[in-house]
Amino acid sequence: MAKTPTRLSLAELQDRIGAGSSADIDEGASPTLRELTETLSFSPGDGRIWLNDQRMVLWRSSTYGAMRRELIASLGQEQARSLITRVGYTAGARDAELVMRMWPGGDPANVFHAGPRMHKLEGIVRPETISFEFDIGRGDFFADFWWHDSSEDDEHIAAFGIGTEPACWMQVGYASGYASAFMGKLIVYREIACRSSGAEVCRIVGRPADQWDNPELDLHYFTPDASAERVRRSFAPAISEVSRRRLAAKDASSTAPELIGISSSFSAARHLIERVAPTQATVLFTGPSGAGKELFAQTLHSISPRAAAPFIAINCAAIPDTLIESELFGVDRGAFTGATESRAGRFERAKGGTLFLDEMASLSLVAQGKLLRALQERVIERVGGQKLIPVDVRVVAASNVDLRDEVAARRFREDLFFRLNVFPIALPPLKERRDDIPLFMEAFLRRYCEAHGRDVPGFTPRAVQALLQYDFPGNVRELQNLVERGVIMVAPDEPIDVHHLFRGGEHLDAHGLELGTGGRLTESPALRNVDQDAKSAKPIAASSRKEAATYRKALVAARYNIAEAARQLGLTRAQMAYRAKRLGIL
Ligand SMILES: [Zn+2]
Repeated sequence: MAKTPTRLSLAELQDRIGAGSSADIDEGASPTLRELTETLSFSPGDGRIWLNDQRMVLWRSSTYGAMRRELIASLGQEQARSLITRVGYTAGARDAELVMRMWPGGDPANVFHAGPRMHKLEGIVRPETISFEFDIGRGDFFADFWWHDSSEDDEHIAAFGIGTEPACWMQVGYASGYASAFMGKLIVYREIACRSSGAEVCRIVGRPADQWDNPELDLHYFTPDASAERVRRSFAPAISEVSRRRLAAKDASSTAPELIGISSSFSAARHLIERVAPTQATVLFTGPSGAGKELFAQTLHSISPRAAAPFIAINCAAIPDTLIESELFGVDRGAFTGATESRAGRFERAKGGTLFLDEMASLSLVAQGKLLRALQERVIERVGGQKLIPVDVRVVAASNVDLRDEVAARRFREDLFFRLNVFPIALPPLKERRDDIPLFMEAFLRRYCEAHGRDVPGFTPRAVQALLQYDFPGNVRELQNLVERGVIMVAPDEPIDVHHLFRGGEHLDAHGLELGTGGRLTESPALRNVDQDAKSAKPIAASSRKEAATYRKALVAARYNIAEAARQLGLTRAQMAYRAKRLGIL
């Protein structure tokens, strides 16, 4: 990031950050409070609230107060403070990461101020800047804020009354985490006045950790204490065993794509493959097409003792009935007209490794009989062959239809079904694991930027919202295709918008809500208009891009003082603001 020595007058800062009136929602430079508000969307049908791509929870301030009180009662004041500070630190660092990802290349001073604005949007506290300067290149940082109406103080005072110590612990953690992630070095905020210790307004000051006297007083709250470390260690053996195996597997095949997910159903499935991997048990994956069955099977193989031997996959539905047997079991010369050479089948090629049979339900009954024999007696016979060939293969099967139904319809052998159904693992459709969508978006964006030599900064808030609320009939594979399409469609250096993603007749069902005027939830217009947008979408003309560059340059030169930038270009402030907004700069 550019070196930006910044020292601003109070008036300039108020112009940028907005000192608290509701009229300032659009004021200042990007990201404004309104732009941040647009990243917040509610999807009550799914039971989700999103801040861009991060899941949020709406809970009572008093619930936080109750938890805080319980923590103080059970851990003691010092340890509770330490824990709460660190939790706040993580939240602040996350918000910084989000802001830097969404507004890359913006003026750092403005981007930094998204932190206090987010804190305000999240309803925690209303910050007001007293003074602020930093230089990322030199690592200088100094910030001084008033904190009005801190929610944490309300809870602390309600529980304990006015005391002698400051109490905005989570908030100090948040500010420190935000500034540290932003500066790339540890920034520590101290609350030098607090309502909980009798001040009228809270006040915080932030500096690099090494520029405080006695920084250990603060750092003591930023690092886990000895007892927490003991707890962590008592869980460590189980964790390290899994991660060790995963690392070993990664070494064995560094090209294998990684499983991605944090949702509970994903975690349950991953837990199951970690349990079954070291054994020889046959595994049956069930779930809709595109849910990632092959990737799970590959991962299972790569963390199993068979990792060094081949992983052979075959999609039974993709091979005609007449060829499936020779594909699976091989052919001996002269078996049928045209079989001029003997050829090993997939069973033999997977020797010592794993054979993945996808779309099992489409196997013919004859092939099912042979497969059953291979599983039961551990031998196969090539087509037209005489001798029995021993097989050493772990079979992993998958089906996107319910094999029990196939058994009932007499299309699938019951005895084979019971052979396969030793260790079933169900993979849910993507719409039932929405918490994983942001991770997939990130991963696919990176993958396709690299593959297509593109540099795409990310997604617009409404594209994120559309993806988070779409039903994905084609599951992970469909999301992957949409992101690849977006990467190809989007103009250089612009974020992917809805019309870059949805062009192939996908049915977008709008059921999202967002914050409308007056602070009430209203139906999200972003999704309501997607269809028209997709139809009327035109690539941004080169002339507009040039115009946008001119405005951006003037705004940066004027430190995002719109009136000043307008003067430089001979426009009125209103003209400037209108045009820049239309081009998506402000
Ligand atoms: Zn306070």
